[in-house]
Amino acid sequence: MVARPDDCIGCGGCAYACPYLAIEVMQPPDGGAVSIAIDATLCAGCGACVRVCPQDVLELVARPASHTDVCKESER
Ligand code: SF4
Ligand code: SF4
Repeated sequence: MVARPDDCIGCGGCAYACPYLAIEVMQPPDGGAVSIAIDATLCAGCGACVRVCPQDVLELVARPASHTDVCKESER
């Protein structure tokens, strides 16, 4: 999740590092504040984005098990 959005400098390192293309860095055309969008459905929780961020903007949080996760577990 984006823990400290105000500290983001829009370097794009997190989006570049994500192997699942789960992160989009959005720079408004008017030069306003950069924002980060993370698609939780694509995120595998690898932590690569957290490690590369020079501003310590991102942090991993546990997400509740989804219906899909529970079904996968029950198949084992
Ligand atoms: S934790 Fe990994 S998969 Fe999830 S957004 Fe960060 S780099 Fe991408
Ligand atoms: S790596 Fe950190 S500072 Fe750079 S765009 Fe991503 S969140 Fe912002």
